[in-house]
Amino acid sequence: MPQALKYTIIFSQPAFTSVKILPMPSDFYSILGISRDASKDDIKKAYRKLSKELHPDKNKGDKDSEHKFKEVNEAYEVLSDEKKRKQYDMFGSVGSGSGSGAGFGGFDFSNFQNAGGFGDIFESFFGGGAQGSRRGRREERGRDREVRLTIEFTEAVSGVQKKIAVENMVTCSVCDGKGTAKGSEMITCKDCGGSGQQTRTAQSFFGMIQQSVVCSSCAGAGKIPEKACETCRGEGRQRKKETITIDVPAGIHDGQTLRLEGKGEAGKQGAHSGDLYVIIAIRPDPRFHRERDDIHTSFILPVIDAILGAQIKVKTVQGDISLKIPPGTQPNQVFRLRGKGMPVLSSARHGDHYVALSVEIPKKLSRKEAKLMEEWRGM
Ligand SMILES: [Zn+2]
Ligand SMILES: [Zn+2]
Repeated sequence: MPQALKYTIIFSQPAFTSVKILPMPSDFYSILGISRDASKDDIKKAYRKLSKELHPDKNKGDKDSEHKFKEVNEAYEVLSDEKKRKQYDMFGSVGSGSGSGAGFGGFDFSNFQNAGGFGDIFESFFGGGAQGSRRGRREERGRDREVRLTIEFTEAVSGVQKKIAVENMVTCSVCDGKGTAKGSEMITCKDCGGSGQQTRTAQSFFGMIQQSVVCSSCAGAGKIPEKACETCRGEGRQRKKETITIDVPAGIHDGQTLRLEGKGEAGKQGAHSGDLYVIIAIRPDPRFHRERDDIHTSFILPVIDAILGAQIKVKTVQGDISLKIPPGTQPNQVFRLRGKGMPVLSSARHGDHYVALSVEIPKKLSRKEAKLMEEWRGM
């Protein structure tokens, strides 16, 4: 079995150290009461319905619905915009604003190092190219890739090893990424004399501007293959189907992303590979409602058990658990099973399991039951 790869977990939700039930970070999907794969239409419908219900005109002075109305609008603003939705799915937040920084922790910004300053001004004069001129040599790092992986709810509980098939640019096996044909060497690029740069001059508001740009013949490397490898035409990489084995950790959240360093596209002529981002989707389990690391379920309790107390069996993600219901339990009472929720990512801890009880009043009684109840009433 191939060895599973190392990855960085990108937190799409802020990391938290203690398990508390409130307050929750906004989950835009649950605010609108829709699933993560809801269509544009579903989103619109859910929004219309909720915004009507919660409209301040209808709920004058009700702080709770006022707050909810705001949340619904915020959720809709993000989810109705395809670009914002995608970003939200990936990072659990959108752009700047409160607390979104954490989501970007795992990103590699090395491609943008030259952005800002004068770089982008030059770029607009010359139509690109300024970016790579750093120290005259451009390392053409391979591009990042992004794949989606859907796992079962139970797999999110236990963690799971998955294989993903990706078609990818990988290091050329014939030339080992060098790009040279067998027996041939890398030679100095004639067009730039080995500097990797060419000088361009352009007219601007400030007068003539001279700028170094990346040599188009050698892509900034300063060297080119004397004779290019036939398999990869000198690129040092080739397209190939690959199977990647990945350990999805227990406690992963829906929408969270794993980064597999160096598993994106191979760079040209042996340059660094990009990264592979695996976006995890978790298929919901109708038996369990998850909120962060806590699980919420409901249980229908016969009225007699509520009155006299009982021992009930609760299905948790960790298996069945026996719960003692004390006599005189009220409808809608919530019991907490500490540590019986989801495993907390990258820790040995677990969330809690909450059982909300509803008490069932029988619609029909047997003759004997009715008699006993009558007796009780008469007492
Ligand atoms: Zn090759
Ligand atoms: Zn050159």
